[in-house]
Amino acid sequence: MADGLADKMIRVDMTTQTASVEPFPAKWRLLGGRALSARILIEECDPKCEPLGAGNVLVMAPGVMSGTSAPTSGRISIGGKSPLTGGIKEANAGGNPGQDLQKLGYRVIVVKGKPADPKQRFGLEVDQSGVRIVAGDAYKGLWNYAACEKLYEKYPQTASFITIGPAGEMQLSGASVACTDEKGRPARHAARGGLGAVMGSKGLKFVAVDAGKLSIRQPAVRKEFFAYAKDYTKAYQAGPQMFKTGTASVVFIANMLNTFPYKNRTEGQSPDVETLRGERIVESFATRGGGMHNCMSGCIVQCSNVVHDKDGNYKTSALEFETLTMLGANCGIASWEDVADLDRLCDEVGLDTIETGAAIAIFMDSGGMEFGDAAGAKRILHEIASGTELGKAIGNGAVSIGKKRKHARIPVVKGQAIPAWDPRPLKATGITYATSAMGADHTAGLIVNPGLPPEQFAQASQESQIANAACDSSGFCQFLQPTIEEIAKYYTMFVGEDVTREQIADMGWQCLLDEWKFNDGAGFTKADDDLPACMKEEGVGPNHAMKFDVSAEVIAAAKRRFASREELFKLKATG
Ligand code: SF4
Repeated sequence: MADGLADKMIRVDMTTQTASVEPFPAKWRLLGGRALSARILIEECDPKCEPLGAGNVLVMAPGVMSGTSAPTSGRISIGGKSPLTGGIKEANAGGNPGQDLQKLGYRVIVVKGKPADPKQRFGLEVDQSGVRIVAGDAYKGLWNYAACEKLYEKYPQTASFITIGPAGEMQLSGASVACTDEKGRPARHAARGGLGAVMGSKGLKFVAVDAGKLSIRQPAVRKEFFAYAKDYTKAYQAGPQMFKTGTASVVFIANMLNTFPYKNRTEGQSPDVETLRGERIVESFATRGGGMHNCMSGCIVQCSNVVHDKDGNYKTSALEFETLTMLGANCGIASWEDVADLDRLCDEVGLDTIETGAAIAIFMDSGGMEFGDAAGAKRILHEIASGTELGKAIGNGAVSIGKKRKHARIPVVKGQAIPAWDPRPLKATGITYATSAMGADHTAGLIVNPGLPPEQFAQASQESQIANAACDSSGFCQFLQPTIEEIAKYYTMFVGEDVTREQIADMGWQCLLDEWKFNDGAGFTKADDDLPACMKEEGVGPNHAMKFDVSAEVIAAAKRRFASREELFKLKATG
């Protein structure tokens, strides 16, 4: 492969339980991750299909640079029609499966159909000898950590896994897809949008990827590529490294900015910020062990914290800002240790911590349980795992439990819970939530700039959405914050031909167009590009004056492409 690009793909038919290898189409040559997932869904999935039916298409697409020596570049996108939103969904995860697939020469796995017997479980094996579907009943019902431990009894230690927990097997709309990290732990999740339920509907309990001792992929222009990656790494390490103590380090500043939602978003600040802030986690490393690590090989950011319990035993990783907010402050839970327990439970059962935190907060807000009841929240996680009526209602997400409780305050967009970053102080981010085909998703285009002038909201949101779509297609982690220009340089040296920054920006924009087109086909209209009443009528901050008051006209402007500006090329993924 003179251009360094892998040229195979895997097709899986779960109706017949067969897997085959095909050439990767030339028309998708420079597409990876999120952009590739969107293109496949546009070309091969009826947007009107039933999300948990045979017609939905589950895509597992590593980024273009996954499996190379470019730093922090090995992420994988999981895509499909979301059972949570009814629209297109891409959720992105670290861990090693993306890199291992690319090292084996595979650009994507496309899974279609579903087995006649919904009780049966299967696995997909991918290694140097080929691809095949195998029986998976032995892993049925296992929580993610136990499933991976059992998988490592069968597969080599060099293998990585993509798995679902009981929530995915029960096809709950808050179910995640887990990827194993460098240590083989299922701690990295493509969490949002219920894609674990889509995997569950296809009877696929796991994908085992073993690249053995295969080395990293080789670029077309080797010397320059390695030199650029080396210089890039040096420059990053000499810089501020804003995520060196993890995303949890932003808790305090988020609270100051009124974007640390408390008690189902009725306030933007929590009185418990001191016992939830990331510094408490970092302090625990000295006496309990744990610390910072990289969730996938070759990550130079190392934002993932490993949290130990009081006895020094591993508890969970990573305990993120979003989780501390949505399962902590938003539920009125004050202790980071309780949130760590809840995080581990979500990873075990296979659930999105954002959606689950939002759903538990709605249950509390509607009188189902006291805010701050950490033991009760943990009980609910066990109820979800065992499939009780309440457990299913919460495991199906914020809208599901909100409807069941007939509660008015349901902070979602297109059916998906609003993440920690609040659209009232951060209005440009609110435009992202309104316009993204994914619904409320901070990774689609986060702008943490409360002082941004209103006339710049729409353009800032659009540019951030383009930059993040490009980043999520490349395999780079958003926390590395590569610019479009830098992504273009890596592509150029890897494929050995000029890939311009304009091309990368156009690929990001085309990804957004594909996603919007899919949602149009699924029946979404302009009316869906809006925030819920509680974000427009109930404020946060001093005198509760911060409300989402952006007009429909400004929101709509974010979907009409602005002329490319130099700023777009300098923009880093994530705010
Ligand atoms: S920056 Fe963090 S989330 Fe991203 S790949 Fe590295 S450890 Fe994983």
